[in-house]
Amino acid sequence: MCGIVGIISKQDVLPDVFVGMLSLQHRGQDSAGIISYNEKMNLIKDEGLVSSVFTEKELEKLKANIAIGHTRYPTVGSDFTIDAQPFMVSKPYEIGIAHNGNLVNYVELRKELNLKNNCVVSSCDVEVILHVFAQALPEEFSVEALFEAVKKVFEKAKGGYSVLMIIKDKGMLAFRDPRAIRPLVVAEKTVDGVESIAFSSESLPLTTTGFKLIGNIEAGEAVFVNQNLEITSKKLAKENPAHCMFEWVYFSAAESILENLEVYTARINLGRELADAWKKTGLKADVVVPVPDTSRTAGSRLAEEIDLPYREGLIKNRYIGRTFIMASQVKRENSVRLKLNPVESEIKGKRILLVDDSIVRGTTSKKIVKLLKDHGAEKVYFLSTCPPIISPCFYGIDMPSKAELIAARLSVEEIRKEIGADYLLYNSVDALKRALGIKDLCLACLTGKYPVSVPKETESEFEKKRIEERKEHK
Ligand code: AMP
Repeated sequence: MCGIVGIISKQDVLPDVFVGMLSLQHRGQDSAGIISYNEKMNLIKDEGLVSSVFTEKELEKLKANIAIGHTRYPTVGSDFTIDAQPFMVSKPYEIGIAHNGNLVNYVELRKELNLKNNCVVSSCDVEVILHVFAQALPEEFSVEALFEAVKKVFEKAKGGYSVLMIIKDKGMLAFRDPRAIRPLVVAEKTVDGVESIAFSSESLPLTTTGFKLIGNIEAGEAVFVNQNLEITSKKLAKENPAHCMFEWVYFSAAESILENLEVYTARINLGRELADAWKKTGLKADVVVPVPDTSRTAGSRLAEEIDLPYREGLIKNRYIGRTFIMASQVKRENSVRLKLNPVESEIKGKRILLVDDSIVRGTTSKKIVKLLKDHGAEKVYFLSTCPPIISPCFYGIDMPSKAELIAARLSVEEIRKEIGADYLLYNSVDALKRALGIKDLCLACLTGKYPVSVPKETESEFEKKRIEERKEHK
C-alpha cells in the first residue's frame, strides 16, 4: 500500500505537499519521494520516513507550483531505493508519476515492454504503467491524447491503481482504475484569491492543509487540471466499482472520508455489529479493551452497546511503526512487545473483550493474547471487526500469500486455539456490508471472488516472490 498526494496551484505547493505526506505516513513507511516541476523536473526520493527523507534545503530545491508526493510500502518490488516512487520519463515529453496499487499482470507487461525497448528498470509496477502510457502518446500534446493514453493503460494494465502525473508545462493528470479499487479523492482551496487543486489517496492530507473535499475520482475516470487550474474529466471505462473494504476497516486514517463515507463512522458501525453478534453468544465479560489504534473506534461503540466499561488496557508506543510494515515475520514478532504496553490494573483478574480490526497472519493476535494472560487476564475473548481473511489480495494490500493467511488454513475454532483466546468472534461478511453501507465493495480477500481476474501463474508467482522478499529482509 502506498499514499499519494498531488497539488497544482499558481503558487508554491511544496509546504502543502510535505505536510500532506506527513498525514499519509500510515500508508507506507519504507520510502518517501516528491517530484515537482518548475522549469525542470525535480525529483528527490529515498528510503525512510517523510520527515527524515526531506531537509528544509531539499524542500527549497523542490519549490514549484505543481508537485506529487508518495509514501511507499512495497507490495511488488523489494529494492527500496530503485523502487521508491515517483518515477519519470522524458519521451515524448517529460512526465512524472506516482501511484497506489498493484497490477495483476505486471510480469507479463514488463516482459512485453522490455522485449520492445528494455525500458523498465525497476520492479515497481508504476513504471510499467508509465511506459504503457508514454508509449501511447503522440509527440504533440493534447488533453484528448492524454485521455486516449489512459484508455490504453486501462486496456493493458489490470489490477487496482490510483495514479497521479505531472505533465511538463501542461498540468496534472489523475486517474483511477476501471473498478476504483484503490481510493482517490479530489479537493480544492482558494487562499487570498489563489486557487489550488489537490488529489490524494484519502481526504486527511488535504483537509489538514485547508482544502475542501470535492469528491472522489470515479471508476475509470481521468481528470486533467491545466496550469490555469481548468479541469477536464472523462469517464473512460464502464465497469462497476469495487472499492476495497480494507480502507475503512484498517488502512485509511479514521478522520478520512472515502466514497462519502467517514472511516470513523464505518468503524463505529463495525463496533455496533460486533456488539449484536457478541450478545448472541451469552458469554459475560468485565471490560472492553481495544488493540490500539485502529480498533479503538469500534471498541468504544461495542462497549457502549453492551454496557461494559471501555478501558485502554494496552497502550501503544506511538513512535514504533505499524508492525506489518516491517517486512519480515521476525521483525514483526519482536515489535509487538515493543509496541504495546499492558496496563496491569485494567487487565488482572478480568474477563477481557479484546477488539482488533483484523487478523491477517495471526502473529500479532497470538502475542497480544499471551501478553494479556501473562498480566493476569482471567479470560481473553477476541473480537475482530473484519471477517476472516481467506484469500490473498492482488490489488495492493499486503496479504499476498494464502499460506500466510491464518484463516485460509484454519477454521475459526482452530484459530482460537492457535492464538490462545478463550473465544473468537468475527464480524460476518453481511455485518461488514451493513456497517459500510456501500453497495460496490471489493471483498475478494473475504470471499475469494476477484473483481479483476487474476491469472493463475500470477497468483503463484506473486506469492513466491513476496515470500522470498520476506526471507531477504529477515
Ligand atoms: P497479523 O494477524 O499478525 O498479521 O496482524 C494483524 C494486525 O496487523 C491487524 O490487526 C492489523 O491491525 C494489522 N494489519 C493490517 N493490515 C495488515 C496486513 N496487510 N498485513 C499484516 N497485518 C496487517
